Amino acid sequence: MNKISCDTCLDLIPLVKDGVASADSENLVLGHIQECDACREIYNGEKEIYGAMDDSIVAKKIRRNLWFFVITIILFGISVGIMITDSMNMFYNALIMPAIGGFGYLFLRKKAYYAPLAVFLFSVTWNLITNIADGFLRSYGTVWELAYVTLFMSGVYTLFSVIGLIITWSLCYAFKKED
Ligand SMILES: [Zn+2]
Repeated sequence: MNKISCDTCLDLIPLVKDGVASADSENLVLGHIQECDACREIYNGEKEIYGAMDDSIVAKKIRRNLWFFVITIILFGISVGIMITDSMNMFYNALIMPAIGGFGYLFLRKKAYYAPLAVFLFSVTWNLITNIADGFLRSYGTVWELAYVTLFMSGVYTLFSVIGLIITWSLCYAFKKED
């Protein structure tokens, strides 16, 4: 009995499946897949020929590029959200922070907690700097009051972003858009 290589077998499988291969080709394929697990899985449709491997390499490249993009957007969103609050537009913040959380979930998935974490760290830093710059300690506050105000505001922001993350997660779960 003649033997064929895996490459030849993979070339012939579509022809055999479409019923246009010669009897000889079909016998060669059937003979090969009895001995070759990899080609049998492809023949049985358990694996795609141009399968998961190529897709995951492409996905990895896309994801790597997305990282920079996502982090930039999140930092931009946090800055805008915090600046808006300083001008007393808390309403917009209640939209921007959840959006950051949701965005974080959509793009970072299992690392989505980075989004609220970034919101927290960024806003703590921001609140400390702006409050001190405003003369908080000099004019009317103690260190404890400063810590309280800072943690309270950052906590609210972080909570908003966590809520956005959870809402997005539940929506994705409900619509089965998870990987
Ligand atoms: Zn093979």
